[in-house]
Amino acid sequence: MQKQVIILFGQPGAGKGTQADLLSDKTGYYHFESSKILEACFKNEKPEKVFEIDGQTYKVGDEIKRWETGLLNSPPFVVSLFIEKIKDLAREDESIIFSGSPRTIYEAQKEIPLLKDLYGVENIKFILLEVSPETTIFRNSHRKICELMRHSILFSPETENLTKCPLDGSNLVKRKGLDDVETIKKRLEVFKEQTFPVIEVIKEQGLHLNTVNGEQTIADVHKNIVEVIK
Ligand SMILES: [Zn+2]
Repeated sequence: MQKQVIILFGQPGAGKGTQADLLSDKTGYYHFESSKILEACFKNEKPEKVFEIDGQTYKVGDEIKRWETGLLNSPPFVVSLFIEKIKDLAREDESIIFSGSPRTIYEAQKEIPLLKDLYGVENIKFILLEVSPETTIFRNSHRKICELMRHSILFSPETENLTKCPLDGSNLVKRKGLDDVETIKKRLEVFKEQTFPVIEVIKEQGLHLNTVNGEQTIADVHKNIVEVIK
């Protein structure tokens, strides 16, 4: 079977993570989770280790500090890790689902040409999950996470009354800080300014822009995604 790359794109709360998990369960494709790749690097590398990228140096210890204090990690550092991971996955003949990358024009300009080389442009499916700003704010402010694994459970009619994590059975709680309405509004602004322009890179790179209505139920959104990637 032809290997594929699925890029799920959309505002915070569009349902990217939920849909990526569902699709990964169904297809066996690798769910590329940016935070897990960063955490793995921080665990495996010594803090003194220095990455040299395009003539600049990035110390792992500094990046750990940024991560722990809630700052964004340096884009060249992040992208160099992602590129290594993408190459490993391609070597292992894995299909990939992205749910949080590319997040900036810089990231897209580095990753998309590489993915085209490794998988072929016709095998990359870029899917925009469209939701209104009102839905985004509502869903994020009603988001719950599980105590054990920090699984994020987005608000939907299907998850509204859940009290236990469907994946591991631990209690569901509300996230503090990140899901306050003011913080969500800020994240939406950042999305509009820094992430949404990724769509321009996608078009420049000759990828087709598929849109799926993210306001539907989780099951219907999933069905539409499956149709797109067929
Ligand atoms: Zn869980």
